[in-house]
Amino acid sequence: MRIRPAEVGAFGPAGAGGFISAKGAAVLDLVTGFVVFSAVVATVGGVLFHVWLRNRHHHGSLFWAAAFTVLATGGLLIGARGQIADVFSIHLGNALMLAGLVLLLCGIARVNDEPLRPAFLLPLAIWLAGMPAPQFADSVSFRMALYHTAALSAYTLIATSLWRHRHRSPAQRVLFCLSAASVAVSAVFIVSVVVWPPDDFLTYPLGPYVLVAGTVALMGTVVAGARLISEDADVSLVLLAETDDLTGVLNRRGLARRFAAQQGQRAGGALAGVLMFDLDHFKSINDIHGHAVGDAALVHFAAVARAHLRDEDIFGRLGGEEFCAILAVSSVNEAFAVAERIRSALNAAPFVTATCQIAPTVSTGVYVAPRDTVTLEALLTAADAALYRAKSRGRDCIVADAACQAEDLCMAIG
Ligand code: GH3
Ligand code: MG
Ligand code: MG
Repeated sequence: MRIRPAEVGAFGPAGAGGFISAKGAAVLDLVTGFVVFSAVVATVGGVLFHVWLRNRHHHGSLFWAAAFTVLATGGLLIGARGQIADVFSIHLGNALMLAGLVLLLCGIARVNDEPLRPAFLLPLAIWLAGMPAPQFADSVSFRMALYHTAALSAYTLIATSLWRHRHRSPAQRVLFCLSAASVAVSAVFIVSVVVWPPDDFLTYPLGPYVLVAGTVALMGTVVAGARLISEDADVSLVLLAETDDLTGVLNRRGLARRFAAQQGQRAGGALAGVLMFDLDHFKSINDIHGHAVGDAALVHFAAVARAHLRDEDIFGRLGGEEFCAILAVSSVNEAFAVAERIRSALNAAPFVTATCQIAPTVSTGVYVAPRDTVTLEALLTAADAALYRAKSRGRDCIVADAACQAEDLCMAIG
């Protein structure tokens, strides 16, 4: 059975045919509405594609570029109803609209570092499962309800992903509110077409309201999505500015920011323990084996040290062959034990190159002080003094010192 063009009732995110004046004449005709919708959405897709070309690691913007391109194509096909075969206009057009929402969801999942799940295909599965039903060709309300059920499932999946990450940024919260509102609008629309079945898609009274709501949600999504992309770019820039090029660990700036953040937290012990590492006779490693092998030895030490620290410990490179770890500890002995683990792990893991085996050693100065009152500079200066003593004692050893704030901290271990 052929579906009459005027009856078709699934307009993408909005789900309505056009604005109808008081006398019943269409103020905005359906075709113009879809062409404008597709042009705007395709432009946004092009901009997002350009954003991705500038930063190819940002997979979210590629998914969103694809989403908006697919939404634009779906809109054009639906708008061409009557001009092209129904199978393209209705079946494919609405399927593309839903595929666009699925891609939008994939982009949000990528931005939130979530895996892409098979459940994301649910909206398309609902539409494809409903198409063979006899009511599909016969009932405009069935098709409208079917499309909006599928769209509702997409908005619900989007809202769920955003809800899990709502604490991350204001843009996530705005997007969550928009998707939750879209869930509500779709639900109201489904109930209304079931309870109050439309005779004709174009003259359905709720249609214009849903069209406006859908357009507002889409524009809001674009603005909040742009904010989300720029927040991600900010995070990448901060990461770049705070990372040591060679070893990939924090640099001095990163150490300072992480230490300041840790000072405000209550987790871990009340003391800050600083471990300052300096590789022994590093100049001779460079002189004998070359600068490239020296570089590789620095990367090797960073990996060994990181492997013996907890995720919440701060570790970075101060410069040259000097590294530093800052831990929340409850005693100087605890900090000393960590330093000893790293020292002996380095001894046990010689560094192998194509031509030789190098066994670098490390001297460590440890200093411990109350976390919330001490400055990073004071910690580093005191740890440096302890490190100097470790070098004097013959290297490949640890000297620990502590602030004399409490009796049990007034000790030195060498
Ligand atoms: P000590 O046991 O007293 O610490 O002696 P050392 O040779 O390790 O110390 P010194 O300060 O004399 O030499 C440090 C060397 O580290 C000199 C410098 O060329 C080298 N160095 C600094 N940064 C890098 C780097 O990024 N890569 C390489 N390969 N070498 C570096
Ligand atoms: Mg040095
Ligand atoms: Mg050295």
